[in-house]
Amino acid sequence: ELETRLAIQRNDEIGMLADSINHLAVELQRYRDTRQEFFANISHELRTPITYLEGYAKVLKNRLYDTEEEKDRYLDIIHEEALRLEHLVNDLFELAKMEAGKIALSLEWIDLTEIADNAVRKVQLKAAGKGLQLRTKINNGIPLVYGDGLRTEQIVLNILENAVRYTEKGGITVELDHTPEYVFLAVQDTGIGIPADELPRIFDRFYRVEKSRSRQHGGTGLGLAIAKRMAELQRGELLVSSEVGQGARFELRFAFEQQEEPA
Ligand code: ADP
Repeated sequence: ELETRLAIQRNDEIGMLADSINHLAVELQRYRDTRQEFFANISHELRTPITYLEGYAKVLKNRLYDTEEEKDRYLDIIHEEALRLEHLVNDLFELAKMEAGKIALSLEWIDLTEIADNAVRKVQLKAAGKGLQLRTKINNGIPLVYGDGLRTEQIVLNILENAVRYTEKGGITVELDHTPEYVFLAVQDTGIGIPADELPRIFDRFYRVEKSRSRQHGGTGLGLAIAKRMAELQRGELLVSSEVGQGARFELRFAFEQQEEPA
């Protein structure tokens, strides 16, 4: 709560000063809330897999299963939850490094065509496994952009994996093109989509449209937060648009005026 609010009603400099102090107090409080929520989220996200690990390890130790198949199923859960923990810790570490400004980008002129092809190849099997079409619409003569190749592929892979994860029928199109202002790589899917009022929060840390569904799919809720920050570190942009039930479209942009190599 804001115990620091100044109740000064004046039309002079002191009144203006009081207004800006009050404004700062609100900002500070918001920052505190966000931080607190962030740590609460982290402990929740860590606790869930740990609970599974403990529970199923105990079941196995006490031989509380009837068949070998049942035992295998518990071992699979343990394996999955261990992977989830690893994924979560890696994502958290990546975010922490980015927020501390400790990410060393390796900037050079990169070819988005190659990056799109690589990322598409990596999700091909998963898409085919769900019976989804995976198409690329890559224009000729896409200008090189100045960025970090590996990080950019990570961003593209992340939105592409999400597209596969949140699409049950139809397909995914990866489009690469440019306008006079920017080069863009768009991933369009025909999946469940994202409600309009949730769109602005989609890049928040740990934000998920539907908690249980996303967890079931193996997500951490950190992927897009990382992807957006990663894009911005390279002076790119990551945008989203969506229609519920129709699909979602994520667009990674690199503007031309940002393409000059730093001196
Ligand atoms: P997660 O690891 O949960 O997928 P992300 O940060 O990658 O976390 O995404 C945040 C949330 O945004 C997801 O939980 C999901 O609800 C929503 N989302 C992301 N991509 C899509 C998409 N292509 N279609 C529908 N919803 C999506």
